[in-house]
Formats: sequence, structure tokens, C-alpha cells
Amino acid sequence: RPRALSGIQPTAGSFHLGNYLGAVRQYVALQESHDAFYMVVDLHAITVPQDPKELRANTRVAAAQLLAAGLDPERCTLFVQSHVPEHAQLGWVMNCLTGFGEASRMTQFKDKSAKQGAGATTVGLFTYPILQVADILLYQADAVPVGEDQRQHIELTRDLAERFNGRFGDTFTLPSAHIVRETAKIYDLQDPSAKMSKSTANPKGLINLLDEPKVSAKKIKSAVTDTDTVIRFDAEKKPGVSNLLTIYSTLTGTTIAELEQKYEGKGYGALKTDLAEVMVDFVTPFRARTQEYLDDPAELDAVLAKGAEKARAVAADTLARAYDRVGFLPPA
Ligand code: ATP
Ligand code: MG
Repeated sequence: RPRALSGIQPTAGSFHLGNYLGAVRQYVALQESHDAFYMVVDLHAITVPQDPKELRANTRVAAAQLLAAGLDPERCTLFVQSHVPEHAQLGWVMNCLTGFGEASRMTQFKDKSAKQGAGATTVGLFTYPILQVADILLYQADAVPVGEDQRQHIELTRDLAERFNGRFGDTFTLPSAHIVRETAKIYDLQDPSAKMSKSTANPKGLINLLDEPKVSAKKIKSAVTDTDTVIRFDAEKKPGVSNLLTIYSTLTGTTIAELEQKYEGKGYGALKTDLAEVMVDFVTPFRARTQEYLDDPAELDAVLAKGAEKARAVAADTLARAYDRVGFLPPA
């Protein structure tokens, strides 16, 4: 079976709808076809300031949400990044292969550092894409399920894997981004030109899966559309309506064409009312399942411990080979 690897940050507590549709849904799908490794990336979380107590709690909340979304520890390996020290260790080696200018071109860094402000931007935020390279290469991943915003980092991963292999001999698998076109970028409900993001200026544009369902329903109902009234998918001319159609279609398994037909001659109000209901029906059981996992933290921690053990076996093997290739003297 081919390998898959991906990670999600525990920073906000709740996952948002973009995380779920763009990434987590694909994690669930790939456990059927791939030897899949998924992790809560707490090392990445501290690239911006975190409250220690919240970070620890949110790490469990993230793991609980991944299980609630359908990850099955019998069919995939679910773990916490800091439980596998090889990530930081291979990260260092990869830092030493990356050009400063090359790292400076990462648009995620540029966006995030602009939001942090120059004075508050850490070196960790600058090098986090390189840690991500190590995350992927440690598992010799073939496929990396992510949203569109991560495409550049997967390209960097391929470049560095090739560079390492060329310099030191064949060591790493070159991975491909697994990006599902339809849901690669879910947009902010209030600003359909921007990606839905936890750090949005206007929280009304962001659907948090763990919010009260009626809060999310209200956000759907007040989503920005346009002055036209026709319900038709047109990402360029009708980004707001198209975003709603994408969400609706993905959550219900109805095609966009079927939805266009269903709402022919009807107004945006009808579409939003129905989608609000779809959203409530989706988040209600999701929240309940997440809470069930959180109610038994000992069991949750046991799942993560077992996952870390499985992950470490793979990661330690890859790291040992990489260290050897680089020329590190093995400990006697
Ligand atoms: P941040 O803005 O701090 O980076 P984030 O919302 O992007 O947070 P991450 O943990 O970085 O959260 O990303 C988890 C996964 O969710 C990634 O694969 C990312 O590509 C995907 N993702 C994030 N936002 C969206 C979105 N709006 N549409 C589709 N996929 C998304
Ligand atoms: Mg992100």
C-alpha cells in the first residue's frame, strides 16, 4: 500500500469547515487505500505564541475531532508530533539543505508573518515549512492530503528530497500533494475572495465545527452572496454563492448540477435556509462524538501512545538512514 501523511494544528481548539472539507475528509478517505499516518502538529503550533495549558488541552481536542470525523486507529496511525522526536531531528538536517532565499519565498510564511508583525515573527515560523518537509519525508509518504494553501510546501518537500538524494544517495520518496479540486479552498463566508481561516478578521465568516450549531446556522444565513439572484456555480463571477454550493454539495453528496436544478427559480434565502439545516445536521453528531472521546482522556491518550509507537518505528528507521548518509558517526 502507498503511504499517506498529513498533519493538523491544535491551535484554535475547534477545526473549521475549511480544515474539514479541504483536509480531514481526505484523511478519512485515504485510510482505505493507503498506509496512512496522521498527526496533531504541536511543534508547528508553537511557531506563534501558545498558552501551555490551552495547547495541551487543544491537542486532545484535535485528536478527538479527528476520531469523530472518522479516523479509525485500527486502520491508520494517529499520533502527536512531539511524541516522535525524529521530526525535530530530521528537521535540522533539512534546515541545513535549504537556501535562505528559497525559504523566504514561502507565501504561507509571508502571509503569517505579515499577520504577526515583524517584531513578533519567530525564526520557527520562518522554518516551519522545512519542519513540514521532515514530517513528510520521515514516513516516505507518497501522498499528502492537504488544502491548496499547502501546495508550495509539498513542492519544497520534493525539491529537498531530490537534493538530499542527489547529494547523499537515494534515501527519500518524492511525495505528491493530494488536493481534491472541488474543496481545495473553502472561502470565508463574509469575504469569498479569502480562504476560510481561523485567523480571520471577521469571525462571522468562519464556521467552527465545535460551535453551537445555531451559531453556525446563523453564519450560513448571513453569508455574503451577490446582488444577482440566480443560483448558479461560477467561481469567478459568483464566488459567494459558488462557495455555498461547494459546501452544500460536499456535505450532502449531491452534485452541483443537481443543486442548480433544485434551486432554479428560487432565491438565495431558500438555499441558505436549507444549507443551514444541512450544517446543523452535520455538526450536531460531530460535536457529540468529539465530546465522547474527550470524556475518556485516558482512552484517548492510550490511542495516541499506540500511534506514537507505530510512527516512531517508521520514523526512527528513516532518520537512522538519513543520519548515516549525511556522515554522522553512529553512537558506539
Ligand atoms: P493557519 O491559518 O494557522 O495555518 P489553518 O486553518 O490553515 O490554520 P492548519 O492546521 O494549518 O489550519 O491546516 C490544516 C489543513 O487544513 C491543511 O491541509 C490546510 O491546507 C487545510 N485548510 C486550511 N484552511 C482551508 C480552507 N479554507 N480550505 C481548504 N483547506 C483548508
Ligand atoms: Mg495552515
